[in-house]
Amino acid sequence: MIYPLWLFGLSLLFLVLERLWPRRSQPLLRRGFFTDLAYLVFNSEYLGVLLGALTLRLALPTISPANLMAGLSIPLQFLVMLLVFDFAQWGIHNLLHRVPFLWRIHKVHHSIVDMDWIGNWRFHGLEIVVYRVLLYPLAALCGFGVEAMFAYGVFNTAIGHFAHSNLNVRLGPLQYLLNGPHMHLWHHGHPEAGPVNQNFAISLSLWDWLFRTAYVPTGQDPTRLGFDGVEHYPTNILTQTIEPFRPEAN
Ligand SMILES: [Zn+2]
Ligand SMILES: [Zn+2]
Repeated sequence: MIYPLWLFGLSLLFLVLERLWPRRSQPLLRRGFFTDLAYLVFNSEYLGVLLGALTLRLALPTISPANLMAGLSIPLQFLVMLLVFDFAQWGIHNLLHRVPFLWRIHKVHHSIVDMDWIGNWRFHGLEIVVYRVLLYPLAALCGFGVEAMFAYGVFNTAIGHFAHSNLNVRLGPLQYLLNGPHMHLWHHGHPEAGPVNQNFAISLSLWDWLFRTAYVPTGQDPTRLGFDGVEHYPTNILTQTIEPFRPEAN
């Protein structure tokens, strides 16, 4: 399995690019860097692709009659998987912001106050399992091949790193298709900085434009990231994992 090599290469690439063309001036070891490094080690995409491949190997003989994708080429499988699963994740992301208990889980991701590529990995364990890992066995059960799942995992990682990166890049007309740093930074904006519950895109921004949840003000970034009370939010994996279940958390 060469996903870890891709992850390493993409991480190194964004580490270097952010040093060359930073959007905001911030140190490499910004607040929460080591917490996010630990989240990267428990990386959801890797586990997901692995589980998907395992599901294919163990369950394929029994699910072959329901194999919906077998006749499609790998690029076409990748395209279908991207459209279907990215839209599903966009919908789940909406719910994570709108259902109070789910928001408590998702707050872990929004506790990032200095954004860069590694912030792509800060997610509560429950969210990692439901939102990312389980998608792959589900894809396997729908008949997607391991090559398509692998390509989807790498693509998600690349766009995830890009959208969270501290890079001074604007996508121009591509912003109507792909998620990018400007758009996603506004998704992480503090309520003091502007409207919240916008820009739910994971890889494809298309859904936000279609369903009118896109918010892309020209020429400015949010002055602050996070949510009300983020300055008091726990700062390591263990305490962040427990936080949504504390009765006094809201
Ligand atoms: Zn969110
Ligand atoms: Zn994010």
